[in-house]
Amino acid sequence: MPKAVDKSRLFILALVCSLAMLTSWTEAAPRQSAAVSADVQAHAAELLAARERWQTPLLDDLRQLCDTIGGRPTGSKACDRAVDWAVARFRAAGVESTWTEGYTIPGSWEGGADHAECIAPTQFPIRVVAGPFTVPTPNGQALEAPLVNAGEGSSESFARLGDKARGSIALVLSPEMKTEADLFAEYGRDGAMFAAARRAGVAAVMVQSSRPGVLLYRHPMGLGGDSLPIPAAMVARVHAARLARLAEQGEVRVRLELPSRVGGPFQARNVVAEIRGRELPQEIVLIGAHLDSWDLGTGAEDNGVNAAMVIDIARSFKALGIVPRRTVRFVLFTGEEQGLFGSEAYVLQHAQEMGQHVFMITFDTGSGHTSGFYLNGRADLRQPIDQALAAVPGFAADDDSVEAIDGTDNFDFLLSGVPNLIAKQEWAPYLPNYHAETDVYEAVNQGEARNNAALAAALVWGLAESPSRPAARQSRAEVEELLRNTKMDEQMKGLGQWQDWESGKRGVSQ
Ligand SMILES: [Zn+2]
Repeated sequence: MPKAVDKSRLFILALVCSLAMLTSWTEAAPRQSAAVSADVQAHAAELLAARERWQTPLLDDLRQLCDTIGGRPTGSKACDRAVDWAVARFRAAGVESTWTEGYTIPGSWEGGADHAECIAPTQFPIRVVAGPFTVPTPNGQALEAPLVNAGEGSSESFARLGDKARGSIALVLSPEMKTEADLFAEYGRDGAMFAAARRAGVAAVMVQSSRPGVLLYRHPMGLGGDSLPIPAAMVARVHAARLARLAEQGEVRVRLELPSRVGGPFQARNVVAEIRGRELPQEIVLIGAHLDSWDLGTGAEDNGVNAAMVIDIARSFKALGIVPRRTVRFVLFTGEEQGLFGSEAYVLQHAQEMGQHVFMITFDTGSGHTSGFYLNGRADLRQPIDQALAAVPGFAADDDSVEAIDGTDNFDFLLSGVPNLIAKQEWAPYLPNYHAETDVYEAVNQGEARNNAALAAALVWGLAESPSRPAARQSRAEVEELLRNTKMDEQMKGLGQWQDWESGKRGVSQ
């Protein structure tokens, strides 16, 4: 339970309302709105929150998604199965208006059975895993070469290696990742590091894992359609340290085999489910989460728990039989991990009705407690949140940040001027398991996952019920100013996204 949630109050509510609510919590036939009392509709926010806290199969769905379908990179069979599963879950929840929307991702990448070993001065196996969107070792075969220690991977440390670097396998050492700032620094290092590795002419790069022991994770080193031309892998932290010590004493030879498959454009699908509004059906409140994940773990924290939450909230609307004033869209994006392709496609495909999207909310930090929201440069979004949550005051989710975040599915909505929020969540248990083998069902904080669902359900309802439009859409000039004020323009330049905004390929046109 978050500190501020008044458990007893919610519990009493749950009891009082149980007669109205106790429909079977799995495949309940949706209640017909005509039969829903004015009382239920009037107390919908509290009822949704209570139901999410105690009565839904949220965690059963998550277990199915993680254990039965598993890790699901966009383009994999598992991701296709996840899309079909999500459609079936929305329909079983009574949301008949559920469909998929196809779009193209410019390039595919699939990891293979990676192997590495030290062959001199002594032989031992090295745990490695290829970096997404890096090319395979030549012909997918093993590459054998001397190892050079490229230190922390700066251009200076590569330059110091001189001719020795050409044709060798470069080892880059990493600090241990303990905070989100460390994680951002890890991403920030890559561009210059790989450019230096290319200039030095190395045959491959082995990057020390920033996680303890032998834990590995998929660390995107390129993006979809824009592969890094050097074979590159993460190496278990303890193995990299041993290799570095051996290299101080003499020549070390390593065999590295990364049979990744890099391919051309392919079709992917988003899932969209909709509950039409009773008074303003043309206006849309969207809650979204990405359904895709990396594949070493089963994508529980990133982002299965929140994908399951989006389905679960739709289920609760149907189970209670409540109909919001505005339309609510429940969207599961794919292609997020490859470079936000699913949400970009959604915004493009719905460009004509972007002006009717009155709010977009996304959750993408696992099951950490939600203490507030990233307002993404718009302090004016706090007031509509307060209004929407007035009926469930116990949540006190008001520890906001006006910082603008570039890196999850709100991005194209922000560029389009749509009021958008990202839940600001505690970093554990998301961070230590980020893209790693340990991102599995049991990593999830079940109590907080339920609280997050309760909060999100009440918020979506409140925004959809708001008597007037909760916040204005921004013009191109206003978005441009926001990008500069929040320094998001610099992040976008670093990530190669600025050109798309400048050219008008992405974002609001006027
Ligand atoms: Zn994510």
